[in-house]
Amino acid sequence: MQPTFQVQPAGNVTVIEQAEGLVLVDTGGSPGAGRRVVETVRRLSPKPVKAVVITHWHGDHPQGLSEILKAWPAARTIATRATQSHLRTAKTMNTPAAPDAVANATLQKSLQDFIPNVRRMGEEAKTAEEQAGWAASERLLRQYAVDMDGAVTLSVSEGFDTRLDLPDPQTPVEVLHLGRANTDGDAVVWLPRQRILVAGDIVVAPVPFGFGSYPSDWIGALGRLRAMDFATLIPGHGPPQRDRAYVDRLVAALADIRAQVKPLADSGRTLEQVQAAVDPSRQMQAFVGDDPWLRRWFRQYWVTPIVASAYKEARGVPIVQSLRGE
Ligand SMILES: [Zn+2]
Repeated sequence: MQPTFQVQPAGNVTVIEQAEGLVLVDTGGSPGAGRRVVETVRRLSPKPVKAVVITHWHGDHPQGLSEILKAWPAARTIATRATQSHLRTAKTMNTPAAPDAVANATLQKSLQDFIPNVRRMGEEAKTAEEQAGWAASERLLRQYAVDMDGAVTLSVSEGFDTRLDLPDPQTPVEVLHLGRANTDGDAVVWLPRQRILVAGDIVVAPVPFGFGSYPSDWIGALGRLRAMDFATLIPGHGPPQRDRAYVDRLVAALADIRAQVKPLADSGRTLEQVQAAVDPSRQMQAFVGDDPWLRRWFRQYWVTPIVASAYKEARGVPIVQSLRGE
């Protein structure tokens, strides 16, 4: 299977069947995606959705929740306490908690204004991979604008700190926080009987996301994740994984960034100087090879933001959660 990459990311949605209903992990990245999730779930099973777990606050995971709850208003909604609070604040979410015509028009305008830039990038692209990537991005953004019309962000009603259980005779579910990683409140979902682990954006392929992340804690969380006896790992983006090779690659990449950034930061260089001095070529080759489209996004969605986080960590500057990752 060829790795895919979406400029406007759309997180995986996982459906788990228990005796008395279904558990959803994440909801799609927009109300439109949420409506398609509802249709898909109804084709899979006549059972109601009894619980929805949101793995973290990044919009491509919770933005379908409003539509899921229209279909199943009695569903429990669950996230870590940190994620629960981010879902309630404008610092992290780009849509309001209740319908707001002005906010909706502003978001729609920003999306429409962005589309010509994407088209121009496609016209200027030199390789077939990049031209195809930009063309797909333009189609996706047009769909995203339609799907986001009228979007609201709902928070969850139940927050937990380290563990929340959803018992069941056949398919017990454990919702766990393994420590700060991609965000300060990542949840993973563990099915101990089936040995399936739903990782959220702690594991994302082919290009990991590094915005506002915690490199040192992330390595710790991946160590705990790696020690779990999973047969299948469902990443936040990308196809299911059957072994630990990608997890190991991710740990090595985080360790490499930290090892490069620390001496540079300690020597008093600015973030800009550190960004210029870090050499990501070995990890870039390991993750995306020579594909020019993926190399562009590996730098933009991974190297640049994770170097910024490693720099803050080395300087003792707190990493905060915000829409812009600043
Ligand atoms: Zn995501």
